[in-house]
Amino acid sequence: YASVPTASASRTFPCTPIMTANRRVAVIGAGASGLSAARALRQEGHSVAVFERAAGIGGTWIYSTVVESDHLNTDPNRKIVHSSLYDSLRTNLPRESMGFFDYPFVAVAGEEDCRRFPGHREVLRYLEDFARESGLYGLIRFGVEVVRVEMEGEGRWAVVSRRVVGGGGGGADESEVFDGVVVCVGHYTEPRVAEIPGIDSWPGKQMHSHNYRVPEPFQGQVVVIIGSAASATDISKDIAGLAKEVHIASRSAPGGTPMKDPAHANIFTHSMIVKAFADGTVLFQDGSSAFVDVIMHCTGYKYHFPFLKTNGIVNVDDNRVGPLYKHVFPPLLAPYLSFIGLTTKIIPFPMFQLQSKWIAGVLSGRIVLPTQEEMMEDVKNLYSEMQSAGWPKRYTHNIENYHFEYANWLAGECGHPQVEEWRKLMYYANRKNRAAKPDRYRDEWDDDDLVKEAYEHFKNIFI
Ligand code: FAD
Repeated sequence: YASVPTASASRTFPCTPIMTANRRVAVIGAGASGLSAARALRQEGHSVAVFERAAGIGGTWIYSTVVESDHLNTDPNRKIVHSSLYDSLRTNLPRESMGFFDYPFVAVAGEEDCRRFPGHREVLRYLEDFARESGLYGLIRFGVEVVRVEMEGEGRWAVVSRRVVGGGGGGADESEVFDGVVVCVGHYTEPRVAEIPGIDSWPGKQMHSHNYRVPEPFQGQVVVIIGSAASATDISKDIAGLAKEVHIASRSAPGGTPMKDPAHANIFTHSMIVKAFADGTVLFQDGSSAFVDVIMHCTGYKYHFPFLKTNGIVNVDDNRVGPLYKHVFPPLLAPYLSFIGLTTKIIPFPMFQLQSKWIAGVLSGRIVLPTQEEMMEDVKNLYSEMQSAGWPKRYTHNIENYHFEYANWLAGECGHPQVEEWRKLMYYANRKNRAAKPDRYRDEWDDDDLVKEAYEHFKNIFI
């Protein structure tokens, strides 16, 4: 169904299979995490089938102008649009640090977008190159959605799938048995929405950033954006050129008076919304109010695995997926069920690779997990540490405070080199630069020494 894209560059990378015990493994999803899982599993000697409901690889990075019919995404029967990308989106990580360890995300001569923080189409191009050059296309069943995953016995999983794209769609369900299942379905599709007192009688339009694509529909409008993460920041600036006013309502904003954005005369930051009124007004905690046309919830997403039937062994509770040992294995179902890509506030692609290698090695028996009791103890310790620190459950997979320790722990487990020092330093340099220059960090930076170091490192990969 998806044709293999033509080569845009020729790269080489090591791809020698390692001999290990062979299992039949189903990977659900062919985004960046599913691709890295498929590659690592195959390298370890497993046989792999990747189920992907879309017609191509890339997951989040497949931009679509289509939005969901229910703009707040609360209707359980709505037709799902997977990606949350907006047209103007550029990466928020520099490409050198963002790429896979052994497949650098370098600009390719002749390609249109050579920027250090490229647009989303360039990321998709990179992932397509990665999949093609790693020989992964043949492993992927495109247009096939997994509708149920159920354990049939120790290490036996029934994977029930349905054709949704091509072949007429709506075909009969098919069931197949696998030794292991790796869940790689992403977590930026099922929106979380803020609760606003009085919203039921408020006459304006509400939407989630999942359905934001371009600024034109907001011409001359007064828009409230709820949230303070990357998409809230980007979208407020994207809209400000056309909208009359943009009001950001952010939990992390100080109280007092609204703050005017130094670079945009029509962007105001407030503390949270107190109430929305039937006359169209929205009142903020700082005492100011505005007559508002649109409220956009940039309030994040929920982990959602509607197909997964584990008899209550794995649950999602206030956005905590658990219990999971090191955010990957449910102790009672390990190693036969695993998750890639749940952690947030990280550098995603290299992290996916480490999790993939760990899973592949554990499934083959090359890497040994602790006992179920020990894994459960580890999970409990994490939960009680979070509780003592007053850290809400919904931040369980936010590993910002121990990102590189976690990555290096994984690397140690699977015999992978530790995260390169330049990558770590670049991550922190970018974070600092972004805080200092929120409008310009993608085009002005002062870590060229690290860029040089990264390219020196890449030379050893491309030989
Ligand atoms: P996804 O890319 O979401 O892929 C999941 C795949 O699973 C999809 O293809 C989907 O169709 C498939 N699927 C889901 N359910 C089923 C099913 N039941 N059956 C079959 N297939 C199924 N990361 C960065 O590194 N840099 C950035 O600058 C950056 N910016 C971002 C900006 C936005 C707005 C968002 C939302 C994310 C951004 N990310 C960024 C994070 C990004 O999500 C990750 O980089 C990565 O692409 C996630 O990959 P994934 O494979 O885990 O999930």
